[in-house]
Amino acid sequence: MPNNTKKRLMFFNGKFLPEDEIKIPPTAHALHYGTACFEGIRAYYSEKDKNLFVFRLEDHYKRFFYSCKTLFIKLPYSSKKIAELTVELLQKNYSETDIYIRPLAFKSDPAVGNFNLPTLESSLLIYTVPLGRYLNTEKGIKANISSWMRVPDNAIPPRGKIAGAYVNTALAKTESLQNGFDECIMLDRFGHIAEGSAENFFMIKNGVVITPPMYDDILVGITRGTVILVCEKELGLKVVERSIARAEVYSADEVFVVGTGAEVTPVVEIDKHEVGDGKIGPITAKIKELYFKMVHNEVPGYSKFLTKVSSK
Ligand code: PMP
Repeated sequence: MPNNTKKRLMFFNGKFLPEDEIKIPPTAHALHYGTACFEGIRAYYSEKDKNLFVFRLEDHYKRFFYSCKTLFIKLPYSSKKIAELTVELLQKNYSETDIYIRPLAFKSDPAVGNFNLPTLESSLLIYTVPLGRYLNTEKGIKANISSWMRVPDNAIPPRGKIAGAYVNTALAKTESLQNGFDECIMLDRFGHIAEGSAENFFMIKNGVVITPPMYDDILVGITRGTVILVCEKELGLKVVERSIARAEVYSADEVFVVGTGAEVTPVVEIDKHEVGDGKIGPITAKIKELYFKMVHNEVPGYSKFLTKVSSK
């Protein structure tokens, strides 16, 4: 928790306010129709440097602005300004722990039946919350191929983080959990592997790293981009972005999923098939180790991805 004595502040429509002073109307369009978009950003506390590091803050806000554009939301800030406001919020709520940052832009107008997006007022909320591991990165997870199809680009574009599209996620994840799995892997409309509920998919076959391309109805993840960089530049691995057929994953040597929340999580079983020998693969282990070092400012040359936040 942030300093227990202090009330956690949130940024809402231009002001830093305690949560109980933020009023969102029950008639808000987004609540009824999912007309909102958001980001998920992590800040890591470094014991060595004694400060927080936000990972790829500007890249997250670039994607946030793209999602906003899709919904005809015009924010009254530049991406630089919104990043500065986020740092200010982290300073106000400073705590020596890993933090998840959630910016949310939403249509706040009370407009029953109005689906003309540019005519609707928008609001902006940014809040922070302590967050440890989201999935079991240590032991790895068991996944299933979902019976729910990933929402296609020309229905609700999955390359933006559009709130309404996360009903698709919730249905798939619920099905997985109810059937005893930890995570789902959704297929796209052509039966290709798309992604997990909140993660991009990677598999390794004969030493080559393979991941679905951006046109297979995926969110173009920031962790995905980081992992591709780590594989190519730091580990000298070949990375191929191509469509993956369902049954290919059953004979993969290694599988892992990546995301801001999920970080790098090994997948040890899919649809009851062991991945490789059912243990965390050696390449996955290396990628995971490098990723965790990178976000804690322990890999030379990558401090450009980190925004330092010191306590005031
Ligand atoms: N796919 C989906 C559907 C997600 O919600 C997320 C989490 N943002 C990801 C992939 C991973 O994206 P990122 O690495 O940018 O967090």
